[in-house]
Amino acid sequence: MRIENEIKLGFKDVMIRPKRSTLKSRKEVSLEREFSFIHSPYKWKGVPVMAANMDTTGTFEMAKELLKHQLITVIHKHYTIEEWAQFLQHIDASIYDHIAVSTGTGKKDTEKLQKLMTAFPDLKIICIDVANGYSEHFVNYVKAVRKLFPDKIIMGGNVVTGEMVEELLLAGADIVKVGIGPGSVCTTRVKTGVGYPQLSAIIECADAAHGLGGQIISDGGCKTPGDLAKAFGGGADFVMLGGMLAGHDESSGELIEKNGKRYKKFYGMSSETAMQKHMGGVAEYRASEGKTVEIAYRGAVEHTIRDILGGLRSACTYVGAARLKELTKRTTFIRVMEQENEVFNKEG
Ligand code: 5GP
Repeated sequence: MRIENEIKLGFKDVMIRPKRSTLKSRKEVSLEREFSFIHSPYKWKGVPVMAANMDTTGTFEMAKELLKHQLITVIHKHYTIEEWAQFLQHIDASIYDHIAVSTGTGKKDTEKLQKLMTAFPDLKIICIDVANGYSEHFVNYVKAVRKLFPDKIIMGGNVVTGEMVEELLLAGADIVKVGIGPGSVCTTRVKTGVGYPQLSAIIECADAAHGLGGQIISDGGCKTPGDLAKAFGGGADFVMLGGMLAGHDESSGELIEKNGKRYKKFYGMSSETAMQKHMGGVAEYRASEGKTVEIAYRGAVEHTIRDILGGLRSACTYVGAARLKELTKRTTFIRVMEQENEVFNKEG
């Protein structure tokens, strides 16, 4: 046993210190970024915020909306090839830079991935996604997918430490997904005791990835637009959102009405709800590591997207970053014991 005494930080432990700036308005800020990759020859341009590949948020409906703002939707892995065909039939060509295909690491996953990529060769981005990216099996799987698709942009995860980021990049990932336990409907930290505060994970993993010319996605734990600013400030190249995009028209699931209020169901992808839905139950050897919640219905996602992007632009003006790319360089985090003043937050 060993103890690491250095304190690790989450979003709630810091604020960004304001800096002198020549920017007059948030309109002057560009959130667009352009990336080239360590393996894939493609270039990617857009606003580096993503919808998570949960079956509630990684939907085709979400993709149509997020495309309007140049964001990415990582489409969940439960659509059939026919559903993909229908979606791709009626949408413009720029969608291919703004959707990613998800896959797990099983044999059936590989077969489906191959079918999908053969049927729609313009699909460019693949997300290989497991709860625990530390296994040798996962590293080998990333290698195999890179061999199958030498040109595609491959994202893989999840991990939270620099040495594993390097290993996945060397195995063939272009972008490594970072986050174990911070998610809004994740119970990994409770069920297993395993995890890593998200901001420190970002800072350490970004350093490792950038050293090799790779990128990282901060996945999970953002509750507010300010948290996205902190994630980018810490060095994240992309930020992935689940809970912040849930509860909208574009999120899947029925509207539930209770006592005159409307809700939508949102659940972790390894929650009992998801496992019942997609696998017919929770396998005996595993605990469910996700929860199911009902969240207040929030209407169209457009409003939320504007709120998030507006917050990010504003953060950039506070530190004088004319482009999102400059935010990390201009960020000084201060450690704090308080965040928002919550005096008027309680309902009723
Ligand atoms: P959020 O933005 O809601 O805080 O986090 C979204 C992320 O939570 C997803 O992208 C995914 O990495 C993670 N996640 C989703 N479902 C589950 C789950 O059932 N268990 C765990 N441990 N993590 C989950």
